[in-house]
Amino acid sequence: MIPENTAHKLADYLERLRWIFWGYKAGGIRDWEYSPPKSEEEVQAPMAAETMERLLRISSELTGCTRCRLHCGRTNLVFGEGSAKSGVVFVGEGPGFDEDRQGRPFVGRAGKLLDKMIFAIGFDREEVYICNVVKCRPPENRAPQPDETAACSPFLFRQIEAISPKVICALGVSAAQTLLGSSRPISQLRGKVQFWRGIPLICTYHPAYLLRSPSQKAAAWQDLKEVIKLLRD
Ligand code: URA
Repeated sequence: MIPENTAHKLADYLERLRWIFWGYKAGGIRDWEYSPPKSEEEVQAPMAAETMERLLRISSELTGCTRCRLHCGRTNLVFGEGSAKSGVVFVGEGPGFDEDRQGRPFVGRAGKLLDKMIFAIGFDREEVYICNVVKCRPPENRAPQPDETAACSPFLFRQIEAISPKVICALGVSAAQTLLGSSRPISQLRGKVQFWRGIPLICTYHPAYLLRSPSQKAAAWQDLKEVIKLLRD
């Protein structure tokens, strides 16, 4: 008989290996379908009519937005997508090249890793809501500037309020600092449960950073475990 303590440690270790393995696959070594495709009805995950209405209203206010300079280089505004079903909202920094082209958040390389992170906490991408601090692509993928964040963040805040998730997961320093109104580095903001307007907020590393620094995946996995815990509470 394996002692309970050892069994827990072993399970944790296996989860971490699984996670790191997914990360390497997302990094391009090999890719495979990890779950069968879902039917159309399953993908149309439930979202209360009122939530959808509120999100539509917010998104319509952003149509043709020229509130900051980021509109100049925009192909598509990236509002956000997903479902309130899981109770989790992931917040990234801002669209990159692929997102700007497709008008959808996290569809590039970092997005592939985010898909695995979401899968690691027990959901498919369609079951969580994904959005960004700024809705238009910053040039050269630079971080959004304070005035750009200030122009766009009220829409993010309204989005989150409309969804009213059980947990928010901030991906990277821009999202974490914007939600917390802090200028502290991500290393100081992650690792504990924070709150945004009363909603538990977990800050973790951005998937793009994890692709560059795979050794931080173990720390990100700890953060994701906290998300799971908060969802179960
Ligand atoms: N990085 C982000 O922060 N958001 C995206 O949508 C894509 C990449």
